[in-house]
This record gives sequence, C-alpha cells and structure tokens, in this order.
Amino acid sequence: MAQKNANSLMDKLVSLAKRRGFIFQSSEIYGGINSCYDYGPLGVEMKKNIKELWWKSMVYERDDIEGLDASILMHPKVWEASGHVEGFTDPMVDCKVCKTRFRADQIDLSKPCPVCGSKDSFTEARQFNLMFKTFMGPVEDSANVVYLRPETAQGIYVNFHNVREAARRKLPFGIAQIGKAFRNEITPGNFIFRTREFEQMEMQFFVRPGEDEKWFEYWKETRRKWYNRLGLNPDKLRFHQHEKDELAHYAKAAFDIEYEFPFGWNEVEGIHNRTDFDLKRHMEYSGKDLRYFDDQTKERFIPYVIETSVGCDRTLLTCLVDAYTEEEERVVLKLSPAIAPIKAAVFPLVKRDGMPEIAKEIISNLRGDFRVFYDESGSVGRRYRRMDEAGTPFCFTVDSQTLEDDTVTVRYRDTMEQERIAKHEIKAFLEEHIKA
Ligand code: ATP
Repeated sequence: MAQKNANSLMDKLVSLAKRRGFIFQSSEIYGGINSCYDYGPLGVEMKKNIKELWWKSMVYERDDIEGLDASILMHPKVWEASGHVEGFTDPMVDCKVCKTRFRADQIDLSKPCPVCGSKDSFTEARQFNLMFKTFMGPVEDSANVVYLRPETAQGIYVNFHNVREAARRKLPFGIAQIGKAFRNEITPGNFIFRTREFEQMEMQFFVRPGEDEKWFEYWKETRRKWYNRLGLNPDKLRFHQHEKDELAHYAKAAFDIEYEFPFGWNEVEGIHNRTDFDLKRHMEYSGKDLRYFDDQTKERFIPYVIETSVGCDRTLLTCLVDAYTEEEERVVLKLSPAIAPIKAAVFPLVKRDGMPEIAKEIISNLRGDFRVFYDESGSVGRRYRRMDEAGTPFCFTVDSQTLEDDTVTVRYRDTMEQERIAKHEIKAFLEEHIKA
C-alpha cells in the first residue's frame, strides 16, 4: 500500500511537471531516451534559482571562496590519478532469461529475478565502470579516449594553484563550481533522482592538515542550514554519518544529508573529508608540485580538502516533492518564494474599465527585476489555481477599488488569504518576500 501511494505520488508529480512545463522526457517525439530529461520554461527558471541561491551562499555571502568553471573533458590521466579508471565501478549482474541488468548490491541474488521471476538466472557479478568514454579527434582508438567527467571536483583540484595564485588566496579557502557530470548508471530511475547526465554544485575547501576535522564539522553545520533556506520540511531531512566500512576510497569521514522521498530516504548531498588524497595523487601523476607554501611558518605541505557536493537536479526534485500538496479544491506547489519559477502574477479582475491597462503597467514595472506573469483569461479563481500549480507565491489583482484608491489585492498562495496593498508598494513587497 505504501509503495502504491509512493508510485501514485511520483506519477502525479511527473505528470504535473510535464503539464506545467517543469520537466519533459528528452527526445520525446522519438519515444524518449532512458533517464534523460529536459527542463521546460518553469523548470529552467527553478533550476537557475536553486543554482543562484547556492552560488550566493557559497561565493557572494563569504569572503573565502572563489568560483570556477572547468571544462567537462579533461586529460585522461586526471581519471587515472583520481582513481576513477580503476575504481569507479558498480557490480553488475544480468538475468539470463529476461536480460534485465541489475546492480548486484541493490538486489538479493539468492531470490528469483524481480522482473521475470526466474530462479538461479543471474550471471556472475562483473565490475562495470560508470564513466562515459568518447574519442577526441577523428581517430577512434585507445590513444584518443577521453571521458565525460563523472564529478566536477577534479576540475577544481587540478586548478588549485591557478586559482590560489590568480586570486592571491591563503589557506583556508574554497573553490566552488556548478557543472554537468555524467555517470553511466546501471539502474537510473525515480524520475530525475538518478540520471546519467546531471548537474552538480560542488565546493572544495582547502585547509591545513590538522584543521580538517574542525572544518568538516563547520561545513556539516553550514550545509545543514542551507536546507532551511530552500524551505524544506525539516522532519523530512536527516543527517547520516558514514561508518568506517561505508567510506569511499578517498574519504576519512563522510556525512550525507538525506531526504525522505516517496520512494524512501535517500542522499541529496555528501560532505566528505577527502584528506590530501586528490592533490597527492595529482602530484604523483602529473609530476607537478601541488604543495602549499605557508610564508609565515615557512612550511610546505599538501592541503587537506573538505568537499560539499550536491546534485542540482536532485535538489530540484526534493523541492518539488516537498512542495507538492493536494488540498480539497486544488493542487498547489508550496515552493519557497526564493526558488519559485514565477514570483508573481498580475490579473485584471475583468477585461474592461481600464483594468487590463493598469495590470499591464504593473507588470512592465516589475519586469527586469522579477519573473512575472500576466493573465486575463478565465475566471479569477481559475487563474489562481493555475498559479498554485506553478508554485507562484503571490498574485496581484486589479479590481474596481484599484480605480478609486490605487490599491490592489495580494493573494497568498499557501493560505489563500488576501489583503490590499498600494500599487506602488508591490516591488518592495516582492523584494521583501522572496528573500531567502
Ligand atoms: P549515490 O549513492 O546516490 O549514487 P553518490 O554517493 O555516488 O550518490 P556523490 O558521488 O557523493 O554521490 O555525488 C554527490 C551528489 O551528486 C549526490 O549527493 C547527488 O545529489 C548527485 N548525484 C550523484 N549521482 C547522481 C545521478 N546519477 N543523478 C543525479 N544526481 C546525482
């Protein structure tokens, strides 16, 4: 029963996301391509808002983090140094009868195939590398293999000295980056939760060895707070510290931020103490000195790295799931105003008496500062409902009283309460209410 409800909630969300233009299946007219999605007019705005909020909290509100945008294709040796060529694998088995492929660690191999029910039908587990390969240049041979990056972090490590020198930074400092990553996941799924192409928002914070544990604690707390800014229900968030046997090869400590999705608790963000693993390996493989020189103590050492890594698409899904609310008469996305795709709609109550002109004038005063929407079609109740489904937090309506005293009604999405404010106060009202 719980599973059925979970499926139906996800089905409803997927259908709303398509209908309202948040997320479409990629190449849909050709039947789609597994686990690839496109962001529509509302989705692209929401994704941009999430990225901007992250960038603001990481870069603009601090004085110890610089930004970077490294290329997706990197020297193939990067992935040897990082351990991805050798170790970025998942164990895979096939059912010999129905040919379905599974991640061996995600099913019980002693039980029948979950798809066709055949007994003892699994192949031996094989290690499958999750990196996408392609060729650089016209010759498709092994000398020209390059990889689509499976994480953005390596672009940061190899630029450690470039950024440090250019920005004249001393430890501790961080480098933040938002960009695409690719993983040939064996079993993608749950809509945009696990896809093969996705966007990461990563920040690598370089510190003096010995200060890493203090900074790890600091970043755990700091990232925790970010989820309040997204407006998520705190009861659906939890924090999971990895036990020693769960740790990735590079990590001394790891901490996941998890959300309770309809399909269970799952990771949204990982915070890792990566020690000096990555810089040390890049030093070894590139032959370049990546140590830091402390000009006060005259010491030379390899910095430790605290990483915070969050999926942008997964954050967006989390926010949609959290916001999706069914009420007696409506479906409403109770998105935080800071990430809502459209900040406000402006309606004339009726299409006469100069009301459309006033509403359009309000819209043109807001445009440029806010993503706003004008709508004059259908009853005002239907217009509100349409905006509820799109997650628009405020609607301003021009009515006959506006003609007398230059006030409009503002209607709040979540409570549906209405009040009057002066027309000239709308901009300040929005500035005030959409801050996160
Ligand atoms: P998982 O255990 O879910 O595979 P992971 O531990 O491999 O994730 P990391 O390598 O720590 O993930 O990546 C950091 C973040 O990037 C994750 O917390 C998630 O938000 C995002 N992410 C990773 N893989 C995917 C994917 N296939 N699709 C969407 N987002 C992803």
